Amino acid sequence: MKIIAANWKMDGSKELIDNLAISLSDLKLVFNFIFCPPFTLIDYSIQKFASFAKIGAQDCSVFENGPHTGDISCSRLADIGCSFVIIGHSERRKSGDYDSAIKTKIENAQKAGINQIVCVGEDLNTYESGKTLDFLSQQIKVLKSVLNNNTVIAYEPIWAIGTGKIPILKEIEKIHNFIEKETGLTVIYGGSVTLNNYIDILSIKSVGGVLVGGESLKIERFSKMLYTW
Ligand code: PEP
Repeated sequence: MKIIAANWKMDGSKELIDNLAISLSDLKLVFNFIFCPPFTLIDYSIQKFASFAKIGAQDCSVFENGPHTGDISCSRLADIGCSFVIIGHSERRKSGDYDSAIKTKIENAQKAGINQIVCVGEDLNTYESGKTLDFLSQQIKVLKSVLNNNTVIAYEPIWAIGTGKIPILKEIEKIHNFIEKETGLTVIYGGSVTLNNYIDILSIKSVGGVLVGGESLKIERFSKMLYTW
């Protein structure tokens, strides 16, 4: 089954989770559904969705334990039943998550038994100068030693996130083939995926799923995505 992962970022509420639960209650899901709400909604999501979804966090601490006020470690996430964590999202990289921190977070997740969605992707400048594959190759090279069988790679071109722009399908295919060959792992696509384009994107063989941001907050449209394939 292909993956549909939802990233609610800082948005969402208990009410929206209730609405999504109602909307999905009598549906047979045709995807592996990984739901990543803000930390504060993880526990509630597990109560509501555990029977048909895996619940993921959007980040984790670089520390395994200790006096790090405000941080949330992978073992705490595992303790409440969280089974995935997004690591290295471009919005986290922009706020200071460098390669060494990303590597440590992957190792921490692995030790705690949490699967990882590890994000890679180029910015607009790199894309426009035709250097996407070189850039991705470098991003993957520094992480390669810690990637493992419980890692899914999310290819998220930064210029496509929240902009309504996506690469042409041939480009997505080429890039996914490349990442798949480099890592041997499942590669999902993220960046402006909507109800209107997800079937085309998922029809590409090397696209193992999609990571959906903004569209996943639109309950009616997102529910349709989860049961139509
Ligand atoms: C994301 O930020 O992971 C994402 C995919 O966002 P959007 O779908 O809104 O572009």
